[in-house]
Amino acid sequence: MMKIINVSKSYKSTRALVDFTYEFGVGIYAILGPNGSGKSTLMNIITGNLAPDGGSVCFSQSEDAPQRPKIGYVPQQAAMYPYFTVYEMLDYVAVLNGVDKRREHIEALMQAFDISSSRDKRIRSLSGGTRQRLAIAQGFIGLPEIVILDEPTAGLDPLQRILFKNAVKKMSTDMTVIIATHIVSDVEDIADEVLFLDKGRIVKAGKLQTLLSEFDTYCWRLPKGAVYDGLTRIDGEDVRAIAPQKPIEGAVPVAATLEDYYLKIFGGER
Ligand code: ADP
Repeated sequence: MMKIINVSKSYKSTRALVDFTYEFGVGIYAILGPNGSGKSTLMNIITGNLAPDGGSVCFSQSEDAPQRPKIGYVPQQAAMYPYFTVYEMLDYVAVLNGVDKRREHIEALMQAFDISSSRDKRIRSLSGGTRQRLAIAQGFIGLPEIVILDEPTAGLDPLQRILFKNAVKKMSTDMTVIIATHIVSDVEDIADEVLFLDKGRIVKAGKLQTLLSEFDTYCWRLPKGAVYDGLTRIDGEDVRAIAPQKPIEGAVPVAATLEDYYLKIFGGER
């Protein structure tokens, strides 16, 4: 679907993206990294809003799809017309994209992203969470081949985050969805592939299940009250440690999660 080959971008002396190479097919891809790791720069290059200094973004073309694929883009701060209602905004984007059977399509999207009850409200009067769900919904108008979501859950409460994940999973059966975020739980249950980005470089990437199974031997549950000064995180009532070998007596190996992996990559000395 899309190949990114040796893409680099600098802003003066800051190297925002360094030799980024990856191939994207149908599925949900998570780009995970802390603030400043180059995620937005990558998203802007894929959408054509920003020119890279070098490298290329190639889209596969076939007889069925001879043109550049359609890309739905939800930037961190989506600009939307404040006096449009929710329905008018979606309808406007649908017209621009030449969508057939607009009413049906918009109803389905509003339902998927839980904004039907706000359909006649003007955008300027929406709560932050509803506004963000509208911004996400408009990225899926016309079911483009590629949808790019940059920090999509900012402003969503815990329930809305769960609904967001359900809706994206449901929508993404035949498209490439790329979610850039530093919030691991937003992609944990839905990503097919994960790319960890640090200082503009991919530090680890692959299928989520493969990454996690490789990492299983690194995760330990510590005995209650144990003292350990290595890499740890609290998980409910337990404390988990990330260590290549049994960190202390009584530690029990446990299945790895994406949160553990993130901690391993970004939690140590950098
Ligand atoms: P992320 O989306 O992961 O937070 P960005 O792509 O926004 O990362 O930024 C990557 C690096 O490039 C950061 O060091 C950031 O400060 C820098 N950067 C981004 N945009 C600009 C810009 N327009 N001018 C100068 N530096 C920038």
